[in-house]
Amino acid sequence: MLARIDSLGNPKNVLKNVVYDYDVLHRTSTPVVSLSNDDVSRLGVEEHGKSKVLRFESRFESGNLRKAVQTGPHEYDLILMPDVNSNRHHQWYYFEVSNMDSNASYIFNIINLEKHQSQYEHGMMPLMFSVLESENGHGCWMRAGSDIFYYRNNYVRKRHELYKARVHPGESNASWLMDGIIRFLTENTPSAAKLRKTYVIKIVPMLNVEGVVNGCHRCCLSNEDLNRKWKSPHPVLHPEIFHTKGMIAFCADVLKRPPYLYCDFHGHSAKKNIFLYGCSGQESYLSKDKDLIQNDSEFSTLSRLLEQYSLIFDQESSNCKIQRNKESTARITMWREFGVTRSYTMESTYCGFDTGRFKGTQININHLMDMGASVCTALSAL
Ligand SMILES: [Zn+2]
Repeated sequence: MLARIDSLGNPKNVLKNVVYDYDVLHRTSTPVVSLSNDDVSRLGVEEHGKSKVLRFESRFESGNLRKAVQTGPHEYDLILMPDVNSNRHHQWYYFEVSNMDSNASYIFNIINLEKHQSQYEHGMMPLMFSVLESENGHGCWMRAGSDIFYYRNNYVRKRHELYKARVHPGESNASWLMDGIIRFLTENTPSAAKLRKTYVIKIVPMLNVEGVVNGCHRCCLSNEDLNRKWKSPHPVLHPEIFHTKGMIAFCADVLKRPPYLYCDFHGHSAKKNIFLYGCSGQESYLSKDKDLIQNDSEFSTLSRLLEQYSLIFDQESSNCKIQRNKESTARITMWREFGVTRSYTMESTYCGFDTGRFKGTQININHLMDMGASVCTALSAL
């Protein structure tokens, strides 16, 4: 146990030798069709030559082991699969181990059991079936193992985020802002590494490709504003919206993990500065929205952080109103249908600034890319 805690504190000292990877085997191996097994004939046979590395297998009925990573001479981290079509319920494990040294003790760390509490904390022992013991007439399944601990480790579930630009094809501001975000996230810096470790960030850099290619300003080729189609998108007429919404619905309804933050980037032809629209039930035109999501204050956190980290962001122009004519936008649909409390539209002017450090200047691509970087900086402080 103490060695395990030490290795968590000093990950560089830990051996990382992947000895079993179900995903790779599943993609590359010929499917096994035989229902027989060769357990008895393998007794006493040294596998992997003279290697002392354990051999794992889970490709049989009820099997569950996704990956085994050797972290020491006799120690292995084990990763379980979630239930099918889910990313949860990591509880069941069932796998074969062979090529053991009978004089050695082995440590197995199952690192993604997800329940907060378990009977393993109160004396429950794992079950093991020894082919050798069974052949020698000493029973079948038996409780086995010693020093069994169940505790919270330092592995965390990542939050999902979604950034999207150019639903309105003429708003090229959004592409430069997105460029700033992508550059920041892919840099070799501690802040970028921290964000990559904390979040799964999905980016749709150009949603309305047909509009961009054909030189449109607002609409797609069916002459409709795609950012008013999120409530009920048509699979043929609005496939970009239909499938993007489908991906979010899968995360929210099937995986039970809606985006932690959603942001749609736009350009604004009638206003100056760069600012944010969010969603607050208290500021909705619909009275039933006022009770929909209780934690309204989450909207303002990002705008407060942007005000702190960016020389460009205009907090004064930002608001969190829900108006009738905007209710089929991505921002409001994410908030109302999927409960995304941090659902935003970021607007950036075509013109320039009438407030802050750049007051009186025209906007350029450096301002937009800087704003993208500031979004990432603010995100790391959320
Ligand atoms: Zn727009």
